[in-house]
Amino acid sequence: MTASHQGTCLCGSIEVSFNGEPKRNFICYCSDCRKGSGHLGQFISEYNSSDVIVTDKDSKLKEYVVTKTKSGFPKKKQFCGECGSTVLTLPMKHNGEVAMVRPSLLDTKFASFAPNKAIFGDARTEYTKGSESEFY
Ligand SMILES: [Zn+2]
Ligand SMILES: [Zn+2]
Repeated sequence: MTASHQGTCLCGSIEVSFNGEPKRNFICYCSDCRKGSGHLGQFISEYNSSDVIVTDKDSKLKEYVVTKTKSGFPKKKQFCGECGSTVLTLPMKHNGEVAMVRPSLLDTKFASFAPNKAIFGDARTEYTKGSESEFY
């Protein structure tokens, strides 16, 4: 079976494939996502873990467990140890069955993953207060 969507981390060591369409696409503006992504918020798509295939042929994948989270449950952040790209996040709230992937890793059909929801938007509101910029 050929996956519906394919991509790689920045250096190409890690390949990701997503089967089917995401359950939802959103931007999370929590402080963890801000620090991890380098942007005001992190662009995330939700899949069942069974529909996400990570190919790590050179064993570059590393994991960092975020213990202090807004949900109260730890989350495993998996990233490329070579280039630092976040590959996916597994919230333990869902026993690892739900994968929060980064559509920004995709090489094709990126635009079909446009987010239509935002969560934890307080920081964004604070940052953009009084600004008329359209870049947020
Ligand atoms: Zn990499
Ligand atoms: Zn977040």
